[in-house]
Amino acid sequence: VTDKINALPEGANYFSLEFFPPKTSMGFANLQSRLERMSQALRPLFVTVTWGAGGSTAAKSLELAEICQRQLGLTTCLHLTCTNMSRSLIDEALEQAKVLGIRNILALRGDAPRSEEYRNEAQLLEGDSNKDFTWAIDLVRYIRKQYGDYFCIGVAAYPEGHSDESTPNPEHQDPLFDLPYLVDKTKAGADFIMTQLFFDVKAFDTFEKMLREHESGVFKTIPIIPGLMPIQSYQILRRTTKLSHAKLPTDILGRLDAVKSDDELVKQVGVQILSEMVDHIKKRPSVTQRGFHFYTLNLEKAVSHIVENTHLIPPTLIEDDEEAIASLTPGNP
Ligand code: FAD
Repeated sequence: VTDKINALPEGANYFSLEFFPPKTSMGFANLQSRLERMSQALRPLFVTVTWGAGGSTAAKSLELAEICQRQLGLTTCLHLTCTNMSRSLIDEALEQAKVLGIRNILALRGDAPRSEEYRNEAQLLEGDSNKDFTWAIDLVRYIRKQYGDYFCIGVAAYPEGHSDESTPNPEHQDPLFDLPYLVDKTKAGADFIMTQLFFDVKAFDTFEKMLREHESGVFKTIPIIPGLMPIQSYQILRRTTKLSHAKLPTDILGRLDAVKSDDELVKQVGVQILSEMVDHIKKRPSVTQRGFHFYTLNLEKAVSHIVENTHLIPPTLIEDDEEAIASLTPGNP
């Protein structure tokens, strides 16, 4: 991922798309066609594949990662969580990723499993889980120890502070609380930072400034990729912002409240809101090429409109194509 970012011309923008593994084979088939269309039409710099708590989606995440990396030729970043994961599961996932030609891992702690099924699985694994891996930094260190520089490693960050549902800790939901841990996690070997979804662009501005100016200097040039979630429906928005503890600024909420009974209008206003957010962030000074990460929820339309509106789709290599065609013309030396 970082090699591709660094190869972009100065001032270029790029974007990535997140997908999660569907539960059924029909879901996989549908997603595969959607991925084919999206990768051809939108040309993301890379895609990411999520990982279920405690390894609950391990096989399906790897299957989707294989489709992306091998079949569609997309640069793929596999999410990997470490809490409630045995070391052998982590070893298997990393080995499998390597076999598939995947060079990028988003190293995460993950959350405590919520459902009974996962809890039982976690108890079975208790023998060697939690001892090696408590925080995401443990996974970053482990990957670096086992694989050196083979994997490009991304880590998560939270412009509005970290919080999770299983252990709500509101007094700690403050980016300043996370900061020393993010410094350590980055020093341990992170190559890029990807943020939690947010709608408050000012929170992102402040967060990015805080990192870039941090006295440690570790965030000076590292790519900090803002995570954005296209608005698919009013209900999904309310649910995901509640789960992620992302604030909905009053102007955004007002615009959506005004149309909330009309799903189609919510989507349209949502595309406008997200496009404005991208344009705002694009205007910020950037020390690296400016990237955007979209939580697609496996859906196609909203993100397609947003990347079109904001001119994030990379230009086609028309000149190269013309040269290639010219070279095929009979009589052309
Ligand atoms: P950490 O970096 O370990 O931080 C977790 C919390 O612990 C923070 O509040 C931090 O300040 C604190 N902390 C860290 N180290 C210490 C320490 N030594 N002592 C005390 N406190 C400490 N979850 C999934 O299950 N699957 C996914 O695919 C997935 N993808 C994600 C993608 C992105 C871009 C993001 C932002 C999140 C994703 N998550 C995913 C959610 C993530 O797993 C949770 O937010 C999790 O609660 C924290 O993970 P982390 O990697 O940020 O943890």
